[in-house]
Amino acid sequence: MNKNCDLCQSVDFINLVEKDAKNKSQLNILHCIQCGLIQQRDVPSNAELKTYYAHNYRQDYKSTYSPKPKYVYRAGLAALDRIKFLETHLGVGHQTLLDIGAGGGEFVYMAKKRGLDAKGIEPNIGYSEFSKEQYGVEVQTAMLSDLEDSSADILTMFHVFEHMANPQDVMRKLHRCVKDNGYLFIEVPNILQADASPHNIYFKAHLFYYSKFTLKSSASQYFDLVRTEDSGNLKMLFKKKSVPSLNVSLPSAEEVQATKRRMQKKGWLEYLLIGGGALKPFRRVEKMIFEAFVKNSSPRKILDDLYEKRHEHSKAFSIGNLKRLGGWSTASGLGFVCFEALC
Ligand SMILES: [Zn+2]
Repeated sequence: MNKNCDLCQSVDFINLVEKDAKNKSQLNILHCIQCGLIQQRDVPSNAELKTYYAHNYRQDYKSTYSPKPKYVYRAGLAALDRIKFLETHLGVGHQTLLDIGAGGGEFVYMAKKRGLDAKGIEPNIGYSEFSKEQYGVEVQTAMLSDLEDSSADILTMFHVFEHMANPQDVMRKLHRCVKDNGYLFIEVPNILQADASPHNIYFKAHLFYYSKFTLKSSASQYFDLVRTEDSGNLKMLFKKKSVPSLNVSLPSAEEVQATKRRMQKKGWLEYLLIGGGALKPFRRVEKMIFEAFVKNSSPRKILDDLYEKRHEHSKAFSIGNLKRLGGWSTASGLGFVCFEALC
């Protein structure tokens, strides 16, 4: 095999054959023995990726060119979570922010409401037009490679970096696009997390499967790590290096071993007992109930309502939590009925 690891250039891999979570087609996955990076063997060219993300990706994954209300609601909740991360670890004022892969523009809109001077870029024409029409935000139809210079104080990339070929080239570009002393906030799926269903880990569109060790290492030539949150998805905040290092700083031998051990433990037993998988059907019903409330609302109203009630989730007896309790009770009831029906 002539493929080199994208992080450490090694050719020593554990070869895995996994199924695509969406269409169950076969995916060849490589687990690098030297650095622990998990990556797809067959990576499309940049030109193929550009065409795919401009035209097909959202349709393949969400069957639409513009987000449905339930996706706006989910994106709105995720946006609030990400703003909270920035508030906690960086402080939010009037910084300029560029969201790369802005999707339907929900985060850009919420960040602007919070006072940030936020803009975005998004390769899909349907989604970038949607952001402008629905929220009046500035989302340019473009990919990172089209960007001349953003000079933003903060760059954000949510569930985008794992789709990108050539991570080192991407980091070099990001380093150029952020101001001196600026920050980069990346969120990706966390390959080490226990609460992902074994059916829902590998995707054709995800070229890399990062851990806190390999993402830190991928950024290490151009950015210093400031903060990590890895319960669930992996969130990492980085600060721009004034001068890039000469080389990537690879994960330590202990980190590579820890990754290997975690990967061996992954499976249905861990997911159901430790990762909370046994509760997922109930959570799904709860989610459906919440999403049904927004079915007929406009995208802007969905986000405005979520922003207004953003502090409610932390209060024990808030209306939001009482609704949640109602959802759980209904979910438990439905679960019980299903259980009875099966027995
Ligand atoms: Zn490697």
